[in-house]
Amino acid sequence: MNLGLALIASPKFAAIVDVMQKHMNSTVLITGCSSGFGKASAALFLTRGWNVIATMRSPKPELFEVSDRLLITSLDVTNPKSISDAIAKGIERFGKIDVLVNNAGIGLFGAHEVTPDETIRQVFETNTFGVMTANRAIVPHMRERGSGTIINVTSSAGIAPMPMVAVYTASKYAIEGFSESLAYELGTFGVRVKIVEPGLAPSTSFAANSGGRCDNLIPPAYAEYAGGYLKSMQDYPTAYTSPEDVAEAVYTAATDESNRLRYPAGADSVMLAEMRKSLPEKVFLARVRAMTGGNQTE
Ligand code: NAP
Repeated sequence: MNLGLALIASPKFAAIVDVMQKHMNSTVLITGCSSGFGKASAALFLTRGWNVIATMRSPKPELFEVSDRLLITSLDVTNPKSISDAIAKGIERFGKIDVLVNNAGIGLFGAHEVTPDETIRQVFETNTFGVMTANRAIVPHMRERGSGTIINVTSSAGIAPMPMVAVYTASKYAIEGFSESLAYELGTFGVRVKIVEPGLAPSTSFAANSGGRCDNLIPPAYAEYAGGYLKSMQDYPTAYTSPEDVAEAVYTAATDESNRLRYPAGADSVMLAEMRKSLPEKVFLARVRAMTGGNQTE
C-alpha cells in the first residue's frame, strides 16, 4: 500500500476526520488574534472547517485570508461593551458560539518591590478581570443552549511560578482557580471550562508588547540575581513553546468532550506539569530554584 493510502486507512486519520466532520458548523470566538497564539489558533480553526470570530483591539483584516467562515471584529477585554458587541455580532453572523477562547493577555517582568500599583492593576485588568468579564458575557448564551466550551489561556506559570514574574503569575493563578471552580458550576448546565497552559514562547510579540511596562523594574539590588536568572534561561531544558503548539492544545481542548481541565501546551510546559505531579514539593522547588539560577537546595 502506498504511504498516502496507508495514512488515509489509519485509525488516527479516521479519528481526525471524525472530529472535523462533527465540528463542521461549529463557531469559536478568540480574543487577542492580532499576533502570537491567538492568530495561530484562529488560523488552525479555519483550516479545520470552523467558523471563526477573530477578535482584536484594532481589527487587521490583512492578517488572514478572506473566508466566509471568518468574522474579524474589535474586542478589548477591558471594555465590557466591546465584549458583548463582539459576541452579538458573532451570533448574528453564525447563529451561535460554541467555544470562547480567552487568549488575550499581557506580560510583566520585574521585582515586585518596585512595581507600581497602577501597573499591577493594568495586568489584572487584562489577564484576570478581562477574562472574567468575557466569561460572564458568554455564559447565558451557552447555558441556555445547554452546551459550549470556555477555554482560558493561562501559562506554565500557573503550574510552576518563576521568579520576577510574581504579578503576572498571580493574574494567571487567579484564572486557574476561577476556571476550576467554574468548571463544576457550569458543568451542571452542559458547559465545559478548560485551561490551556502555554510554556515560554519567545517567538510571539509577548515580550515586545510587555516591554514598556517593565521599564525600571529591575533596581540595582536585584540586577545580579535577575542577570543570573536570565543567563540560566539560555540553557533552557527543553524546546520553547511555539504558537502552533498552543493552537493545537486549544483545538484539542475545544474538541475534547471529557471533563479534563488542564492542557499544558509546549514541551517545557508538559515537562513542568510532569515534574510538579511526580516530585515531592521540596524537590520540585529546589529544581526550579536551580533552573532559575539559584542553588539546588531543598
Ligand atoms: P502576544 O503576541 O503579545 O499576543 C497577545 C494578544 O493579546 C495580542 O493580540 C494583543 O493585542 C492582545 N491583547 C492585549 N491586551 C488586550 C486587551 N485589553 N484586549 C484585547 N486584546 C488584548 O502574546 P502571546 O504570546 O500570543 O500571548 C497570548 C496569551 O498567552 C496571553 O494570555 C499570555 O499571557 C499567554 N502566554 C504567553 C506566553 C509567552 O511566552 N509568549 C507564555 C505563557 C502564556 P494588541 O495587538 O491589541 O496588543
